Amino acid sequence: MLRKIQVLDKSVADKIAAGEVVDRPVSIVKELVENAIDSGANSITVEIKGGGKEYIRITDNGCGIEADDVEVAFLRHATSKISSAHDLDAIMTLGFRGEALASIGAVARVEVITKTQDARMGRHVIVDGSRILSNEPIGCPDGTTITVKDLFFNVPARLKFLGSDGAESRRIIDLVSRVALAYPDIRIKLVSNNKPVFNTSGKGNILDNIVSIYGADIGKDLIPVSDDRGGNHIRGFVSNPGLSMSTRTRQIFCVNGRVVSSGILEKAVDRAYKERLFQGRFPVAFLFLAVPANKLDVNIHPTKKEVRFDDSAEIEDFVAEAITKALQAEEAVPEVRSDHVEEVPREQFEDPGRKPVEKPKLHEKPDQGEQLDVKKLLSTMRDKADSLVKLSKENVPLHQMVKEDIAKYDAAKEKTAIEVENDQSVAMPAIQPPRQKPFDMDDLNILGSLFNTYILASADDVFYMIDQHAAHERVFYEKLRGQYEASEKYSQQLMIPLNFNVSADVVATEEKWMPSVNAMGYDVEFFGNNTYLVREIPAFMEMKEAEDFLNDLFNQFSEKPDMNNPATIDKIIMRSCKSAIKGGDVLSSEEIKALMDQLKQCINPFSCPHGRPTFIRMSKYEIERMFKRA
Ligand code: ADP
Ligand code: MG
Repeated sequence: MLRKIQVLDKSVADKIAAGEVVDRPVSIVKELVENAIDSGANSITVEIKGGGKEYIRITDNGCGIEADDVEVAFLRHATSKISSAHDLDAIMTLGFRGEALASIGAVARVEVITKTQDARMGRHVIVDGSRILSNEPIGCPDGTTITVKDLFFNVPARLKFLGSDGAESRRIIDLVSRVALAYPDIRIKLVSNNKPVFNTSGKGNILDNIVSIYGADIGKDLIPVSDDRGGNHIRGFVSNPGLSMSTRTRQIFCVNGRVVSSGILEKAVDRAYKERLFQGRFPVAFLFLAVPANKLDVNIHPTKKEVRFDDSAEIEDFVAEAITKALQAEEAVPEVRSDHVEEVPREQFEDPGRKPVEKPKLHEKPDQGEQLDVKKLLSTMRDKADSLVKLSKENVPLHQMVKEDIAKYDAAKEKTAIEVENDQSVAMPAIQPPRQKPFDMDDLNILGSLFNTYILASADDVFYMIDQHAAHERVFYEKLRGQYEASEKYSQQLMIPLNFNVSADVVATEEKWMPSVNAMGYDVEFFGNNTYLVREIPAFMEMKEAEDFLNDLFNQFSEKPDMNNPATIDKIIMRSCKSAIKGGDVLSSEEIKALMDQLKQCINPFSCPHGRPTFIRMSKYEIERMFKRA
């Protein structure tokens, strides 16, 4: 049936438009929080109940809305933020379309309590499905409180598509966390179902904020990123490759004060970690970018989430290189010092095969407890960040440094050492440590081995201990990963095939795991009766290693892992590397030399795949200090 064209009724048009801006509780929170930020508030509280479906309340201490403007604010395209098309080119505020309040008012019951600093009384306005229900004076503090209830009461179709309370509140928590990170100068408090979720200090420190929002654990594995080039600036933190996740939920990008999603920035992060993380694993990244406002387009979608850079290749290079530099600068060898033993929390390295080693206690420190540790960690990281800013300016990878650069590097490193030293609670004579050259594996002079676990070596005035198990794991992991990803496999044929008896589950899921195992360089054949024959193993493995590795793989396959997920394969490879190499093996001097040669070839020789260090160092100076010679 042909119908006449007609202009939509206002209430219908409003509801359709509202859907553009407001599709879930989280989009309401986003709009209202952005308004609060634009209002100049330095304290914002977000309260939700039932995932925002029951109510959403945002309270700020910003400029407030003048009494006769409150109703106007609910009209479509009513905004105080731009007045001409010209303003669109250099938008500094978050909102500018004047659509949010109108849209929210069209699909919910909204209550506004607001007061400007100059006004004697505040204003209390209730809007319900675009109708103003009441507008009265009220006594209230400066700032604005907006409460949204009965969301989508008049759009039942939308109501149906909302997730569970839990799912909707997760979205909101994620969003408010990101906003809180992006605005370290604003105190942000999030309350869900009357329980506090987090609370930031508003004191402006990014790392403090990360720790308040995501917990102290994540803070321990972060490396500062800082660089400036051609009008672009980047600050922030990325994880050391030992810490990675199976999704990008902990990658947060902020461009010119806006939390954005950006394929370009994701690509830049991936590029920097390419050699360091297995496919399907994602590093943590909290990155803050400042680019010239006229080189950025934020006006491409109503929800303003994805930004577009004028020169995306330039931004990608800039960010990828900044992260690469930060990672390279971090890949130094932890140092044993008479007053400071590098704290590496053991829990993060799931390593059931090993007994915890007693931490050397050179000076008994008073028990500092959780709280203090975090503080110390943060101050150490800040010091590190300072020196890394200097270092990264040199723009030279550590291993390529020429003589003059080495001197500069030393100077910067010394400074950090002294600063950290001054931080210690145990008083030590403040003596300037002598200069140290950066680490070069070719200089190593192998001395022998200790407890059948550590390789001892020296170079110039530095003594090194290398954890042979961690080193071997690193070598194995990189080789397997290389093989796994390479198109050509290097295998060796066995004279007598290895024989594996596996559980029925493993046989049943054969087509799932077989391609991965082949990709590692194994030739595996079913022999009936829950038995597999292995005729070829990866070229670089000893037979015993290959056998232990496969045994461990088969054990894990019986737990039905998702072999289509690269992250799972990565985990399996890591775990199986561990079981293939036993600590405490007696290595001959040739074997030690071979291991060290292989380690030298590694992309990241300084830590095992789980992030535990392979090397620790002790300078002659530190040794002399302990003997009270210096
Ligand atoms: P926009 O933010 O795009 O201008 P909104 O519909 O979100 O549009 O808000 C309309 C207007 O209401 C804003 O321009 C601003 O003047 C005012 N406003 C909204 N929220 C607040 C707030 N929390 N504090 C002060 N003014 C506000
Ligand atoms: Mg707005």
